[in-house]
Amino acid sequence: MYMPSQQQLENAPSIPEAGNLAMLSSVIATEAGQEGHQKALKIASALQTTLEIDKLIEVFSSEIEGLIPHDSIAFDHKSQNIHVLKGTRKKHACSYQLVVAGQTLGQLTFTRGRKFSEHETSLLESLICSLVYPLRNAIMYKLALTAAHTDPLTGANNRSTMNSALIRETEIARRYNTPLSLIELDIDHFKSINDTYGHLAGDFVIKSVADAVIECTRCSDILFRSGGEEFIILLSNTAKQGALMLAERIRHTIASADYEYGDHLIKVTASLGVACYKEGDNSETLYEKADIALYAAKAEGRNCVRYNDTI
Ligand code: GH3
Ligand code: MG
Ligand code: MG
Repeated sequence: MYMPSQQQLENAPSIPEAGNLAMLSSVIATEAGQEGHQKALKIASALQTTLEIDKLIEVFSSEIEGLIPHDSIAFDHKSQNIHVLKGTRKKHACSYQLVVAGQTLGQLTFTRGRKFSEHETSLLESLICSLVYPLRNAIMYKLALTAAHTDPLTGANNRSTMNSALIRETEIARRYNTPLSLIELDIDHFKSINDTYGHLAGDFVIKSVADAVIECTRCSDILFRSGGEEFIILLSNTAKQGALMLAERIRHTIASADYEYGDHLIKVTASLGVACYKEGDNSETLYEKADIALYAAKAEGRNCVRYNDTI
């Protein structure tokens, strides 16, 4: 498989601003004769039909395929962790940095088995102008959606997302008879961390605990900040033994780390309650079972993991 070299990617020319429809249609007119204007309109309106980045790239690819045949199209925005690839990468690549109002939007790369001619790349540049603003809107939409679902301090999913995820995952467990476990984590004596080191140090500890949990989990595990110093970890396809092992690993990781805040070395522990989905459970009963387990962990001295099966 051919991957465009780093140098090629870094030297990718910039597409500075979106062109207007008249310019685009005049460029296409030289390719597609009389129908150029209609084709330009068709591309522009097709790009208005979606705010999903994936779909937008797919639509653009299929709209321009007749003018510039290609085997793959990829869009990458490293800092936003956006990576879209349609088709199979081939030997020859043609890459563009997209820029709007001085802001980099990301990189668009086309590949195919034979070289792109100069004429084709110049046509491609004009066509890409029609994609720049719809793509910027789609990226902004994605950012807004992410922000609405994310806790700003920790980057974990927020509580409102948790409720819908719990309903969705318990429904999947019920319908397909797959295991599902839930861990509830609460930082021990957190109030005294706030009182001793200040609220900002407390925030730092909350963020560090979230990072420690993410370090211990798999990508299929979902972390939610359910309250101030409380977290929920939803483990799809994980039964009791796996959930208990993970909970213990998280507990140990948190307890054995040193949390350095300014001149202070803060020691932190957490208590964890584990519950597993059983026939007849719903999102509320599963949560409640983990809550009871957490309560037991607190009652039995903190810095430990407890399991509970009943309400
Ligand atoms: P326990 O071991 O029983 O869990 O005791 P605790 O002190 O951790 O629990 P408690 O519920 O008494 O205290 C939680 C504290 O967390 C109280 C609240 O002021 C603080 N808190 C809630 N949200 C935040 C936050 O976002 N940042 C900071 N720094 N503190 C928070
Ligand atoms: Mg609490
Ligand atoms: Mg607490």
